[in-house]
Amino acid sequence: MKLTDLDYARQLDREDPLRDFRQRFHIPTNAAGEPVLYLCGNSLGLQPRGVTDALQAELEKWARLGVDGHFAEPNPWYSYHEIFNEPMASVVGARPEEVVVMNSLTTNLHLLMVSFYRPTPQRYKILIEGGAFPSDLYAVQSQARVHGFEPDDAIVELFPRQGEKTLRQEDIEAAIAREGDALALVLFGGVNYYTGQLFDMGAITEAGHRVGALVGFDLAHAAGNVPLKLHQWGPDFAAWCSYKYLNSGPGGVAGVFVHERHLGRADIPRFEGWWGTDPSTRFEMGPRFQPQAGAGAWQLSNAPVLPMAALKASLELFCEAGMQALHQKSARLTGYLHELVTSIGAGAFEVITPAEPEARGCQLSILASGDGELLHQRLMEADVICDYRRPNVIRVAPTPLYNTFEEVWRFWKILEESVS
Ligand SMILES: *Cc1c(COP(=O)(O)O)cnc(C)c1O
Repeated sequence: MKLTDLDYARQLDREDPLRDFRQRFHIPTNAAGEPVLYLCGNSLGLQPRGVTDALQAELEKWARLGVDGHFAEPNPWYSYHEIFNEPMASVVGARPEEVVVMNSLTTNLHLLMVSFYRPTPQRYKILIEGGAFPSDLYAVQSQARVHGFEPDDAIVELFPRQGEKTLRQEDIEAAIAREGDALALVLFGGVNYYTGQLFDMGAITEAGHRVGALVGFDLAHAAGNVPLKLHQWGPDFAAWCSYKYLNSGPGGVAGVFVHERHLGRADIPRFEGWWGTDPSTRFEMGPRFQPQAGAGAWQLSNAPVLPMAALKASLELFCEAGMQALHQKSARLTGYLHELVTSIGAGAFEVITPAEPEARGCQLSILASGDGELLHQRLMEADVICDYRRPNVIRVAPTPLYNTFEEVWRFWKILEESVS
């Protein structure tokens, strides 16, 4: 059987140990009620069927008990966020006390920079990947301004070499060494949202620390997508959203990592609120902030239980499937997509995501040679859900929990027709 045979794809599906997880998601449908080809889990993950029950349980608790829901078993609201420490830690390769689920991503980036971007007149620069997600850029620019620096001077954006689409690791390390004593913070994406390039976070962390800078990662496109070992790699902090690969629903509650070496330190400034205090004394309502031991000390407000219920239902699937099995399937699925898509000739497009499996996750970014918007339009007319990002890229991301090899095959067929 050839790679390009439909039967080959179907065989891969039959051999897929995770194939049954698809049934545990709502798959969007077209006007005729047939499932669409959803390849947009990098933007908004699909809804796990378990979300309804998880939400319903908290709505009922609220209806039945009112304020007493804060302490009613199971899953009292008072400590609801603590449910996530273990599963989130396993998603990002951290210790449970290094992780907390709170707020949204950009909010958390700011809260973490309050603690970990402490510029001085000599050491004040932030290195960020060129073409970072705009919110991250706005966040670092405004942080620089808050501290009295000019963003044009303080923010160093590192772009790929002329004629190249992705960054070379050696160039990242060279830029860090070049900025040296002036560098206060390296803030990089784990996976770039536009190119799908996965960075070597361990090596970037090491390079940053070597020059005395702190290092943080935005894992919006990495969490739930690629293998992560945050504790071992040792960045100072990380933040990520949960509505992309982690399927927690629009605006879902975000995650934060603070490395163990910073936990319990009294000399790190922080914006503080009552939810960051030690839960055993919180309701004494004392006048002094008593931080909890872990990353939870960065929490401000009581936890939004309803969106967290959706996240709970979703993370249960990740735990059940196991991160290793997910990554294995993901590498096969995207590898298959890569082989098929790059077999389409005629220079209609270029896949700008790195070809090496260890330098990417689920997503492939297809740079159209002609009118990318028109190509995207054609794909949408064929019931493919993927997205278009300016200037000219179509992003497709088969995810291991709910996408199939047959869907990848069908996408390839549709793409081939759409470019011809
Ligand atoms: C999706 C994404 C965001 C979105 O930020 P929110 O605060 O969740 O709206 C920010 N940064 C990156 C890198 C992203 O991929």
